[in-house]
Amino acid sequence: MSVEAAPSGGRAPGGGRAPGGGRAPGAARAPGAPGASPPDVELLAAVRASVLEWFGRSGRDLPWRRTRDPYSVLVAEVLAQQTQAERAAEAFPRFLARFPDPEALASATPAEVLREWQGLGYNRRALALRACAKAVVDRGGWPATVQELAALPGIGPYTARAVACFAMGQDVAPVDTNVARVLARSLHGADPSQLSQAERQRLADAALPSGRAWEWSSALMDVGSAHCRPRPRCEGCPIGVRCRWLALGATAPPPRPRAAAPFSTSDRRWRGAVVRVLAAEPEGLDEPALAAAVDAGAATRPPGWFHALLSRLEAEGLIARDPGGRLHLPRT
Ligand code: SF4
Repeated sequence: MSVEAAPSGGRAPGGGRAPGGGRAPGAARAPGAPGASPPDVELLAAVRASVLEWFGRSGRDLPWRRTRDPYSVLVAEVLAQQTQAERAAEAFPRFLARFPDPEALASATPAEVLREWQGLGYNRRALALRACAKAVVDRGGWPATVQELAALPGIGPYTARAVACFAMGQDVAPVDTNVARVLARSLHGADPSQLSQAERQRLADAALPSGRAWEWSSALMDVGSAHCRPRPRCEGCPIGVRCRWLALGATAPPPRPRAAAPFSTSDRRWRGAVVRVLAAEPEGLDEPALAAAVDAGAATRPPGWFHALLSRLEAEGLIARDPGGRLHLPRT
């Protein structure tokens, strides 16, 4: 199980969407797309200078920016994936007060962690975070490289780079969709969808100012959140007149149609409701009582649907069933 948001997935702590969203392998490259060409040296120097200067004045004071503790940074990264930055910022101190270090999280039961996670959505992230904490405790501490971090359960390439950059001070570039958008537009005048994930990473690696990865990556996330949004708000952007996208008079492509089923018709609502109801019922509920508590009948699905949904949640370790058939959050 990984907490890493899929490409084009969740929200990174800088407030942007989490990693990815690159061009599909084999997809045709748009005319004028930059490919893997390195950024213009003079342009890059000017963009770096203005972005870093702006960040010194206008960077956001987010709670996870006051720590260099790998565990705290990891908690922030996981919390902020697919959760609004404001909600993640509220939950961050509360979660750390309850589970202040990997040892505390690793020794908690899944039920305890899931109870604390309620209101944040995507409960699998909570279990993945706990699995990562257990692995860190078992190996006797944090690994030191991106490759080793990415080998921990629940950590993918983006999160590994984020922990290495924001906690360990390493010169590596975590690339969420905000970072990719700012760099692709400003340095290449391109839409980030014209770049594969590997090309985005190469661009970010090439743009990274040596010794300033923390500031630079935080600053790009803030520029992407405040200005270089899917529909850019160029007025007041620190890159402004230097931006190739702006100079080309480019316009953002229309948003891609969502492939996922709407919340009201997907299982997500019911999955969340089952865990939420059981979080408030330490002794558990039998299946009919649980179906009534989550109003499963309102889903108007075929017979057996709710039982199958419970079986999937059980297989994922999000709920457990005792020998008598009573359902509860996992106690071990
Ligand atoms: S000037 Fe506009 S397009 Fe260029 S980086 Fe800033 S917000 Fe994005």
